[in-house]
Amino acid sequence: MLDRLRSIVQAVNSAKDLRSALDIIVSRVSEAMDTEVCSVYLLDSDINGHVLMASQGLKQEAVGHVSLGLGEGLVGLVAQQAEPVNLVDADQHPSFHFLPETGEEPFKSFLGVPIIHHRSVLGVLVVQNRERRRFDAGEEAFLITLSAQLAGVIAHAEATGAIQGTSPSGHKTADTTFSGVSGSSGVAIGTAVVIFPPADLRHVPMRAVTDIDHELELFNNSLQAVRNDMSALYENTAGHMPEGERELFNVYLHMLDDDALGREVVEQIRNGVWAQGALAHVANEHVRSFELMSDKYLRERAVDIKDLCSRVLAYLQEREPVKTEYPEDTILVSEELTPSMLAEVPKENLRGLISVKGSGSSHVAILARGMGLPTVMGVVDLPINQLDGKEMIVDGYNGQVISNPTDQLRQRFQDTIREEDVLTQGLADIKDLPCETADHHRVHLWVNTGLISDVIRSLDQGAEGIGLFRTEVPFLLSERFPSEQEQASIYREQLQAFSPMPVTMRTLDVGGDKDLPYFPIEEANPFLGWRGIRVTLDHPEIFSAQIRAMLKASIGLNNLQIMLPMISSVSEVVASTQLIKKAYRELLQEGHDVKYPRVGVMIELPAAVYQARSLARMVDFVSVGSNDLTQYILAVDRNNPRVANLYNSFHPSVLQALRHVVSEAHQEGKQVSICGEMAGDPGAAVLLMAMGFDVLSMNSSTLLKVKSVIRSITMDAAQDLLEQVMLLEDAQTIRSAVDMALYNAGVDRLLRSSRIH
Ligand code: PEP
Ligand code: MG
Repeated sequence: MLDRLRSIVQAVNSAKDLRSALDIIVSRVSEAMDTEVCSVYLLDSDINGHVLMASQGLKQEAVGHVSLGLGEGLVGLVAQQAEPVNLVDADQHPSFHFLPETGEEPFKSFLGVPIIHHRSVLGVLVVQNRERRRFDAGEEAFLITLSAQLAGVIAHAEATGAIQGTSPSGHKTADTTFSGVSGSSGVAIGTAVVIFPPADLRHVPMRAVTDIDHELELFNNSLQAVRNDMSALYENTAGHMPEGERELFNVYLHMLDDDALGREVVEQIRNGVWAQGALAHVANEHVRSFELMSDKYLRERAVDIKDLCSRVLAYLQEREPVKTEYPEDTILVSEELTPSMLAEVPKENLRGLISVKGSGSSHVAILARGMGLPTVMGVVDLPINQLDGKEMIVDGYNGQVISNPTDQLRQRFQDTIREEDVLTQGLADIKDLPCETADHHRVHLWVNTGLISDVIRSLDQGAEGIGLFRTEVPFLLSERFPSEQEQASIYREQLQAFSPMPVTMRTLDVGGDKDLPYFPIEEANPFLGWRGIRVTLDHPEIFSAQIRAMLKASIGLNNLQIMLPMISSVSEVVASTQLIKKAYRELLQEGHDVKYPRVGVMIELPAAVYQARSLARMVDFVSVGSNDLTQYILAVDRNNPRVANLYNSFHPSVLQALRHVVSEAHQEGKQVSICGEMAGDPGAAVLLMAMGFDVLSMNSSTLLKVKSVIRSITMDAAQDLLEQVMLLEDAQTIRSAVDMALYNAGVDRLLRSSRIH
């Protein structure tokens, strides 16, 4: 059973488009379940109905033409109830709706299961038989399992069609939206430039060319180069390799000699496709058909074709390294964006970023925030091969990407960009004014940094200190652990730029999803594993070098604060402070004029919330990392697009935890700050101020918006609002209450652009 399931899913996975995916489903399912009919109906929201998209057993003329309205027929019933319907006598059921065009009359028994992806019903998978019998529990379970596994593949295939502007039944569609997670806020509209990894046939985009002769020449030369390699390999391995294995090179040579594959590529090039795209297209088609073969020997030939064509592709790419053109409104798109990809693009041409993999705390997202580039990460259903040259909208506020925008939608986003610009210009006036409420309550607005460019932008925005310098950023950008001296000079830049204002340096916070390329941590459950202080306490040599570098960098400036991430117990603070003291004593002994820094802990885990009082007593300040605190209180992976809708810092449990931490820290007379994304959300910032946070530390791009909102209200009003929302029971209601209050205070303009959820 499992084998059958696996082989169907694998076959469907390798289909080239929606239509062939559905054809494979219906033929393989009816074969596996031994049914006379198997059909797939998909929802087409443009026509408000379920269209018969593929069928084995029903009349083929009906496929693509017959549809049922929403809720109509048994298919409508399955979709509406989002549950299976299993009937002995389908035509006796009150919902039965006869479709004469399909020729389904003789088929009496019916089993339909919904195809559900991300809570929405994409369509219905149906099997039917002439015989009047109920499908048994095993058959029902098989179809349900299969449907659940196929939903993602079908959604992806549908998305590929949608990118080309067509709905499942071939109607024109627009405003196709793909969801991911926000990497960096802001909106960008521009032209997609897809960057693909070298020599990877799966990710070569299709591009049109005009110089066809040039492409043909490139292709022929590359093909010849691979032929030469194969002959050389064959010759050179004589006597070293068993004859049977050497034969493989001969097989390859024959595949190249046989001009079938080459001819198809040449045909594609003659049709105006560039050589790399033509080769990838033909190779992928052949690989797919070999992979579907039932004969094991033939199936394995798929690997040979992949290998051979990858070699040709590598030559093509070497001969003509892709000189990507970056239009002046470039939206950079890749399966997995890397900082070096960013570095290739002229800065003035880069508008936004989209990455299929990765998360809001990926390396690239951190850089994007520093550069103020709207970014969406983790857009898992995005068919990137189809995107090159297409107009895209990046909605970094909501973590969404939109293609084929209608004029109205484009206009709406353009208005947002314009409003943002006007707003930003208007806010410059308050840069040097204090952050205080209308009734003179003073709050300190600090910034989060990682790169030196963040520091420069932050000073421009009137920041009063650095509340979080993510020291892992320079570590991530390095190819090995930076030496003590290298670290000291990086830290000195930050300390000097802000001097005499305080700079809070967090000790190395790797693990979770922040992997150093030279220090990989492979774990089944990385967010609950070796992360933050746990790593550095296990490697005191790394921790001590970092502390020494920080202390040395602060000589003469004395504005250093050290902060410890991922603290879950008092003993971790004891161990860390011992190491800090040891480094301090060593430096004194070495004759350096260092001053002992203020030391603080991050409250990021529920365990630390409940022990906030004890922890606060041991240090000079505490700072809440609300990004992690939200993920750990709600048990929602902060980077997983599937559960992104559950990740919400306005959840009453999160708010109660925050309030508790402030009260506990203040009872110990210690300063309390917050440095998660929440602090930069103007609505949340009002609540945090009312709770009593002394410092709000945020991304510099949101600082003036937060200041403007705080300057527009009174502490009294903020506290009333806080009391009111603390009685509410769910995050959405709380968000609405905050929005409403700010609307009434006349500052809602600032909200839309910077809200976290
Ligand atoms: C946090 O968890 O809120 C935080 C500020 O740290 P990071 O986002 O780097 O994990
Ligand atoms: Mg954190």
